[in-house]
Amino acid sequence: MIQKQDSICAISTGAVESAIAVIRLSGEDALEIIKGVFRPKNVKRFDKQEAFRLYFGDIYNGDEPIDEVLISVFKAPHSYTGENMVEISCHGSLFIQQSILELLQKQGARIANPGEFTQRAFLNGKMDLNQAEAVADLIASDSKASHNLAWKQMKSGFSDEIAQMRSELLNLVSLMELELDFSEEDVEFADRSELKTLISKISDKLSSLLEGFKYGNVLKNGVPVVIVGKPNAGKSTLLNALLKEDRAIVSDIPGTTRDSLEDEMVIDGIRFRFTDTAGLRDTGDIIEAEGVRRAYGHLSKASLILLMSEVSDSEEEILTLVQSLKAHLEEPLPSLFVLRNKMDTQSSSAFDTDKIQTVWSDFKVIPLSAKLGDGMPTLLNAMVEKVRAMKGSSDVVVTNIRHTEALSGAFEALNRAKEALEQGIPSDLISQDIREGLHYLDLITGAISTDEVLGNIFKNFCIGK
Ligand code: GDP
Repeated sequence: MIQKQDSICAISTGAVESAIAVIRLSGEDALEIIKGVFRPKNVKRFDKQEAFRLYFGDIYNGDEPIDEVLISVFKAPHSYTGENMVEISCHGSLFIQQSILELLQKQGARIANPGEFTQRAFLNGKMDLNQAEAVADLIASDSKASHNLAWKQMKSGFSDEIAQMRSELLNLVSLMELELDFSEEDVEFADRSELKTLISKISDKLSSLLEGFKYGNVLKNGVPVVIVGKPNAGKSTLLNALLKEDRAIVSDIPGTTRDSLEDEMVIDGIRFRFTDTAGLRDTGDIIEAEGVRRAYGHLSKASLILLMSEVSDSEEEILTLVQSLKAHLEEPLPSLFVLRNKMDTQSSSAFDTDKIQTVWSDFKVIPLSAKLGDGMPTLLNAMVEKVRAMKGSSDVVVTNIRHTEALSGAFEALNRAKEALEQGIPSDLISQDIREGLHYLDLITGAISTDEVLGNIFKNFCIGK
């Protein structure tokens, strides 16, 4: 049962001067409120207030005209929020936008909180919580990859998967609980081996969704790539070549990059966030030493490390660098590309990778001339491929930390149920674990939510969405 809500209004196009702006109004009284300020060109037609129509006319403050506008009318439940809604397309002067907003307030609407339109859409069952969160991601998307993820999530790929797992688990738990009603007769409605197979299937699904989180996260927030190596190996030159501009200071004096530089670029629709670090070497210079310390700090957040070496460096030298990198990191290690730079100065010598392989399994060697650009396309392709390979087996990619936590909770609960089944533990205890798994799935879709959770989610939205 939808409660009567007060009516809310907001500028949805961002309070900036523009050719056209859109002001939204939603709530049971939206249609009454607009009548108080809008004078349609075609009065008869507007009186009927048919939904899904555009009406042309003027906004008035009493007898004072404010603007010539187009308004679109939606009637509950067939609107974004599920309530009566009006969208006013007006001229984008800040004065006009503000005046219309004030008029709507005088008629009884109040200014919407951030995300309140979408929050109402969720509360009125127009979308589940996970889809509502995807709306914010879609607005924030800044690359083809992050857009694609948000789009799929909004169009409910993930919700469908959750719904299917949920219904299978519910079916299972009902059968087990039915057995409890007949406990004196010692019957088994749910075949134990079928139960185990089903639970395993769902927990595999959960685990592949969890695996995909890292991939989703890098697509959403950018892939963290850290460039490290000895001073003067050509790290800054590489960053400039990647960014195609003179961002980092290039010099032949070792130790020029004392702090870390960051920048980003989109390659094949994937956003990469590069950090060029101070060269890794022992140094007496306090500032440079701080730079080296920070370089190691960045490494722990990297999905990919570009280790810059020179084509003249021996296998032993490179191995020592790889070992020192590893010593500063925890498992699982990120991917490592060993770049053999300055290949324009001498031809690339034979390079035996066996020893490195024993230290770092996920690595690749790429010969390069950062200065002349040779080998750059190979490097870019390898980077894109590396990211694509992170995608797990599931088509759905989880990008949201709240979802990941709930998926982990469900995964753990089901694993407990699986173990309990194997140990022949009584059904009532197993069904409790399964119910707990269901609870976690419901947290994702918002079938169970608290005001605090909702508050946290919607406060990150823009006003007007
Ligand atoms: P960093 O200290 O690792 O950041 O190294 P820089 O990028 O400042 O480069 C150090 C020196 O090596 C500069 O003089 C660069 O011009 C030179 N350099 C960088 N890449 C190449 C390359 O591919 N070939 C040649 N010949 N010189 C390079």
